[in-house]
Amino acid sequence: MAYFRGEVQKANFVQLEEEVLNGWNREKTFERSVARREGCEKFVFVEGPPTANGLPHPGHILTRVMKDLVLRYKTMRGFYVERKAGWDTHGLPVEIEVEKELGTNSKHEIEEYGIEKFNQKCKDSVFRYEKEWVNATKRVGFWIDMDSPYITSDSRYIESVWWSLKEIWRRGLLYKGHKVVPYCPRCGTTLSSHEVAQGYENVEDPSIYVKFRLKQEQEPMFMLAWTTTPWTLFGNIALAVHPAHTYVKAKVKARERSEPEEEILILAEARLDALEGEYEIIERLRGSDLEGKEYEQLFEVPVEGESHRVITADFVTLEEGTGVVHIAPAFGADDYEVCRAKGLGFSQPVDSKGQFTSEVPFRSLEGVFVKDADKHIIEMLEQRGMLYKKSTYLHSYPFCWRCGSPLLYYARESWFIGMKSLRDRLIANNEKINWYPDHLKYGRFGNFLENIEDWALSRERFWGTPLNIWICEECGGECCIGSIMELKERAKGFPFPEESDVNIDLHRPYIDEVVFRCDDCGGEMRRVKDVIDCWYDSGAAPFAQWHYPYENEEFKRNFPANFITEAIDQTRGWFYSLLAVSTAIFDAPPYLNVLSLGHILDEKGVKMSKSKGNVIDITTIFNNEGADALRWYFFTACP
Ligand SMILES: [Zn+2]
Ligand SMILES: [Zn+2]
Repeated sequence: MAYFRGEVQKANFVQLEEEVLNGWNREKTFERSVARREGCEKFVFVEGPPTANGLPHPGHILTRVMKDLVLRYKTMRGFYVERKAGWDTHGLPVEIEVEKELGTNSKHEIEEYGIEKFNQKCKDSVFRYEKEWVNATKRVGFWIDMDSPYITSDSRYIESVWWSLKEIWRRGLLYKGHKVVPYCPRCGTTLSSHEVAQGYENVEDPSIYVKFRLKQEQEPMFMLAWTTTPWTLFGNIALAVHPAHTYVKAKVKARERSEPEEEILILAEARLDALEGEYEIIERLRGSDLEGKEYEQLFEVPVEGESHRVITADFVTLEEGTGVVHIAPAFGADDYEVCRAKGLGFSQPVDSKGQFTSEVPFRSLEGVFVKDADKHIIEMLEQRGMLYKKSTYLHSYPFCWRCGSPLLYYARESWFIGMKSLRDRLIANNEKINWYPDHLKYGRFGNFLENIEDWALSRERFWGTPLNIWICEECGGECCIGSIMELKERAKGFPFPEESDVNIDLHRPYIDEVVFRCDDCGGEMRRVKDVIDCWYDSGAAPFAQWHYPYENEEFKRNFPANFITEAIDQTRGWFYSLLAVSTAIFDAPPYLNVLSLGHILDEKGVKMSKSKGNVIDITTIFNNEGADALRWYFFTACP
């Protein structure tokens, strides 16, 4: 084919794309495409803000091209589609990256280092890869306004968040509670139920059957209880049985020579499978007949209040275990509630690092992380003849979504938003939302709403929106500050820097120094030390990105959103926090259509993630195959 010699046989797509991008840039094609539709019907989009402290990976690119596809299409259909970028800048994910750099591994070390310096590092880190994000966004052809993004750590943004928290507080929905909450012992902070939902993994834990000796019985007689968390036995306060189920006294023959010849074990009749070897049923009784029976404490731990007796509770099931439930109010939400209802005592021999305190009667366990002590505890039970049998148990257990530590359920003072009381409104607002795929509406998302818990909002950390509550040291009175102006009014005489409100830094440690007088008693009011869950920040984006209500025209034009999309892991993350905040403040759905996308898998079917090291570098794809090929692949590979 001599005729074609010297002609280009193969199009260079990469080069073609770069020429197109340059053309768009030169002629401001994106800006003009938006401006042309001004005055037309609006199609509102809210950008789920990424954090630029890591490089963008293929999963981010998938959501970006999907957003672009829908928004371009709507523009072509005649809608006015403004697109404001956003950056998520607060919270544990940011702190943990900085901690890795500094080599710190506890809150104490951060305090030694200095909160001011630490927070400055956090602030610097969140824009470390901004350039790479902007470049990748442009390179893949996602049209979005990156010149005036919303930033969750800006004073104006924080001011809007403060306003919304004050609204919630005024209605009595923001409260301090002592409750059992999911707690990360490494990060030293409470987590919310939607954060916990991000981090379940299947793990093997010990499964043990423990004997509790009843007092005032002629012959040795034991309640047989089952647990997968031996370390919680140090906090045991009661044993619970179901009032209506049938229980038996079973005379059990020794299985080995080391065991007593005969002893009597009490368990639910429906759970007799738990017994090994020969036994004889000598009596049947109802759970309620056991109520009030006292038993000997397993380990000598100081307890405040009444303890160590059998109680009845409706939550006891016969699906597993023995129908006798070991109750430790410091380490289980149900346990805490039932003990409070029955007026029983409390014991928490574990500190905020998740380590045993000196209250446990074994020197060797003091300072040991509770989950590392399980083996040791089992041995001690065995030596004392209190262990009936042991094995292991495969179940799903929650881990910290950021640092990977096993979470503990732990009684702690925290601030909560009363989402439970808004449950019906959440469900009603979800009714107004179209979900793609639609099974999420009543499935993964709807189920979560049905069983909604109060939102554990406060974080005992450093880099976040400070919780805007001040408490009087004299009378305990509370005050919630809703704006920068209000703060300056209350703290007249406080030397605020001579800066405009836009530049005032509302973060720790500066805000911690702002004290003022109590209206009621003249005492000194100080801010609670906590910051808030960063998921609240991004959940406030529909109004906080417009500095509502301090500037309010834009918000009114942009609420609710017609469309949002992110990956499936946001179902109980951002999709939830948006709905929760919007329901609490406006009693309205914040978005009308939501598209939930899958995760990108590698060739073995494993989710691509930085921690697994199986992420494909997107720049390589852009430079070899080109962005359009990648876009087409994403649009067609998983419709
Ligand atoms: Zn953690
Ligand atoms: Zn006071």
